[in-house]
Amino acid sequence: MPEETIFCPTCGEDTEHALVKAGQKNLVRCAECSTVHPVQAVRERLANLRAVVNRGETSVSCYINLPEGDLLKVGQDLLVDDVAEGVMVTEISSLESKGRRLQQAQAKDVETVWARAVDRVELKISIYRGGMTRSMKIPVPGADAFEVGEVIEANGIKFKIVKMKLRGEGFADRAEAKDIVRLWGREL
Ligand SMILES: [Zn+2]
Repeated sequence: MPEETIFCPTCGEDTEHALVKAGQKNLVRCAECSTVHPVQAVRERLANLRAVVNRGETSVSCYINLPEGDLLKVGQDLLVDDVAEGVMVTEISSLESKGRRLQQAQAKDVETVWARAVDRVELKISIYRGGMTRSMKIPVPGADAFEVGEVIEANGIKFKIVKMKLRGEGFADRAEAKDIVRLWGREL
């Protein structure tokens, strides 16, 4: 607890303390006089939120606990721990508070968080050759980066990336899979 001062019974004032042992009562040592004494651990109150996580065309609904004061924002990363799915790295896509959709809110005011899984995503690809286009989806880690001009292979088809469309904000020359709506490639 570096940025927090605690009352030291020996010094008779708030001083800096180092944590000696964590537990229901934390044992702390005063940095001024080295007295070790217990303090009641401050328990953060937790908010229970419903999380609906989209992965490709399926979605998973579960409940998560977050400290009440946590500020949640659309676009922010959120770890969702689900019994069935395990820990999912997601990105917040929408927040619902009292029937309204908000861009940001404190955890205690949020009833439902809509998020999309970004640890594994389905990359949509259109590959064209001689006037024909083939579309496919391939599962890739969300953090995998792709670049226009790069030669890659999907389902046995080798192609050069010619264009990529991003979620929300047009086109890019380089992007991570989680931010790509679709890739276009020319078959080699
Ligand atoms: Zn002290």
